Amino acid sequence: MAVTSDATEYGRLRRAPDERVNPITSIPFWLLHLLPLLAIFTGVPWQIWLLAVWMYWSRMFFITAGYHRYFAHKSYRMNRFWQFVFAFGGATAAQKGPLWWAAHHRDHHRYSDTDRDVHSPRKGFWWSHVGWILCDKFNATKEENIRDFTRFPELCWLNRHDWVATWTAGSFCAFVGFATGIGGGWVAVLRGGAAGLLIGFFLSTVVLWHATFTVNSLAHVWGTRRYTTTDTSRNNVVIALYTGGEGWHNNHHRYQQSVRQGFVWWQIDTTYYVLWLLSKVGVVRGLKQPRREVVFQGYMRH
Ligand SMILES: [Zn+2]
Ligand SMILES: [Zn+2]
Repeated sequence: MAVTSDATEYGRLRRAPDERVNPITSIPFWLLHLLPLLAIFTGVPWQIWLLAVWMYWSRMFFITAGYHRYFAHKSYRMNRFWQFVFAFGGATAAQKGPLWWAAHHRDHHRYSDTDRDVHSPRKGFWWSHVGWILCDKFNATKEENIRDFTRFPELCWLNRHDWVATWTAGSFCAFVGFATGIGGGWVAVLRGGAAGLLIGFFLSTVVLWHATFTVNSLAHVWGTRRYTTTDTSRNNVVIALYTGGEGWHNNHHRYQQSVRQGFVWWQIDTTYYVLWLLSKVGVVRGLKQPRREVVFQGYMRH
């Protein structure tokens, strides 16, 4: 039997006085949610919907495989070139720089569901989902948490100028959009470019934000607990499907060094499948597997 429990069982945590959403600086964040609605005026060619799906999944991969499983947890290795490629790919997702992301995530594991956890749902569901990102307290990169990567100047540069990657992704979407209008005159080219930006880039970015955020919020309140960890983490197949395997979050909290978050064959973990393929062609290496006794403890004793 899987162990199940309720977040409220752990009790509510009080947020510190400086853990508050800044309503002024969060305005652009909310406006970006509305921006894709302008596509009503441009129309959306079918190729742009495909582009949006591509932008979602490719960037989800760089967030899960790069920002999370590599930079935060070092669950595999790669050379300096590919390390930068993965960092750049993650930065196209507009979730700030790789060092900022990974340094805060390490704190989440260090202090899971205590008052020092940056985004515990015990501090409120919406706080864990999005509130903490809109709070000034967490704007800076906690460099002391990520010294193993601050020794690479190119990563520090990208961490400070992550907008370069985001704008590159946005420009790519605009150009794909322009291409859909070729042959239809200038108006069609401009409409295609606008649709490429609004749907291919902005809509996929907003959806990707919330999909990523649910690993911090929903994956700590909805699902089953195979392992009785000291935190509220859950395993949830729905979250695993749309995040490329990050929904096996209770497994992950139990054994965070593992490159795989799905511990058994039926726990779909597409990020791991891609990393496994990349290990066969030499892009990544040293994939860390979960210890047998940990898997056994959770899944093979019944
Ligand atoms: Zn993690
Ligand atoms: Zn967690």
